[in-house]
Amino acid sequence: MDQDWRLRGQEEYLKGAELCRKRYERYSESWDHDHCEFCWAKFAEEDLIPDALHKGYATADNYRWICEQCFKDFKERFGWRLIESQGETEG
Ligand SMILES: [Zn+2]
Repeated sequence: MDQDWRLRGQEEYLKGAELCRKRYERYSESWDHDHCEFCWAKFAEEDLIPDALHKGYATADNYRWICEQCFKDFKERFGWRLIESQGETEG
């Protein structure tokens, strides 16, 4: 009924997930970018791809990334919990 084009069964792995707002970091040295789990916006490190997104919401292992807009649109539906990012709050 409220089917959104961005939804493709992400509930299976993102329902109730803990997400952290952070600067994009590659999950692995072997790839240079990621895509939003929902809308496929591109994430990359700034020096590699300047016009990509450089910040977003990620799972603790940096494996799954969600852009600001999709986070806003789906946070209630998915029941995400926002956790403090480590290392960025000090100083
Ligand atoms: Zn998105």
